Amino acid sequence: MTIKELKPTCVWQIFDEITKVPRPSGKLDKIRAWLVDFAKKHNLEYKVDEVGNVAMFRPAAPGFENKKAVVLQGHMDMVAEKAASSNHNFDTDPIETIIDGEWVRANNTTLGADDGMGLAIALAAITDPDIKCGPMEALATVDEETGLTGASNIKADMLQGDYLLNLDSEDDGVITVGCAGGLVSIFKFNYKEIDAPADRLYFQINFAKFHGGHSGQDIDKGFASATKLIARLLCTLGIDFTLARIDSGNLHNAIAFTAETVIGIKPEDKERLAVAFNQFKADIENEYHVTEKAFEMTCKSVDAPAKAIDPDTACRVLMAAFAAPHGVASMSMEIKGLVETSTNLASIKMRGNQLVLESFSRSAVESRKYELVQQIETVMRLAGADEIIREGGYQGWEPRMDSNLLKLAVNSWEKLYGVKPVVEAIHAGLECGLFLKAAPHMEMISYGPTLQDVHSPAERCHIPAVQKGWDFTVELLKEIATL
Ligand SMILES: [Zn+2]
Repeated sequence: MTIKELKPTCVWQIFDEITKVPRPSGKLDKIRAWLVDFAKKHNLEYKVDEVGNVAMFRPAAPGFENKKAVVLQGHMDMVAEKAASSNHNFDTDPIETIIDGEWVRANNTTLGADDGMGLAIALAAITDPDIKCGPMEALATVDEETGLTGASNIKADMLQGDYLLNLDSEDDGVITVGCAGGLVSIFKFNYKEIDAPADRLYFQINFAKFHGGHSGQDIDKGFASATKLIARLLCTLGIDFTLARIDSGNLHNAIAFTAETVIGIKPEDKERLAVAFNQFKADIENEYHVTEKAFEMTCKSVDAPAKAIDPDTACRVLMAAFAAPHGVASMSMEIKGLVETSTNLASIKMRGNQLVLESFSRSAVESRKYELVQQIETVMRLAGADEIIREGGYQGWEPRMDSNLLKLAVNSWEKLYGVKPVVEAIHAGLECGLFLKAAPHMEMISYGPTLQDVHSPAERCHIPAVQKGWDFTVELLKEIATL
């Protein structure tokens, strides 16, 4: 049996074709040509915009001209990951699909059901003559996986609808109604390199094996930030020291799980350092005994380095890092348990003759995001930052529990499956927020059949969930057509 024979065949046949077309992020010419071909073959009007997004349009069925217009949307790129043992070439080879019980997976590569399955559902719907409804659009965006490029650059003419169904969620029975926007802040402090005082004893302090995690989805899980901890230790040490080196955290969208510093102290303070360090370690073990079970903190004597950071700049940067907000800033009043606004103080790095701090702030509410960003900037300004940079900002999607589309979606799900779907929002980015920027009037939901281990060679798609997701899509389109 091949996936073409799985049910619903209208969806799996299209998915099967999609898996044969190479489409790693950034290399989308082939899949774009395939999509244009698909539109032509089915006599659908289509449009390709400047960044390469493809939209196909189907007019309303006779008698449905005044009904709401619906956009079904997925992204055309996929994450290209393979096992070390695989010879797969993502630029040229089709994905080899394998039916494994209730699941479809690939042969040691990502499957690309994220978001090939979303696209397949959109294309199956727009070509299904049995669905009688208002105008329909299928929209395939580019490079969702590498910076949301397609959605960021979309214009209103590519979003011809009242409602948008984003088919890029991965949990059967869950409807997503909100996401967070984000903004990276970068702070640069120029420092003077000085000769490391030779009359000092030098110690290397290492924090390792903290849990870390996603800077949005995990920000309320109680994990420690190694960047915050290293700043806290050095600011509260109570011992005069020379900062020779600091390197903390890494990616702006990950909670820092390692940090390292080298400091020089007066020989007579050696014992005090040992006591203060051990006390700090004991405090952290106590504070994080629930969430951080594996971390390591070490302090060991090292040779004197040649150079160090001038004490004034070192002091200002460490105090700024200690004082800067980190973690949850506010919770949603619309959805219980959802983080609305947060920030992650990600890293402190030495680059050239600069100390560079990075933080990443998120919120579903734009003004809240900027409030937090400005707060952090204020701290950095007080500390005398030489450069303050905002980068890669994108808009969030505020959950609206009173949306008409959401009501129809909940009813449709309940009608089909006898239970209410879970309605949630995520504290991470989705393309939907960016669509809102181009088409602020649109109501949106995001859903999709269950996928597991996406972005890895273990990625798999749950076969029964595809049938459910398809039936739900058809039912919802019919419901919308009754409005
Ligand atoms: Zn995706």
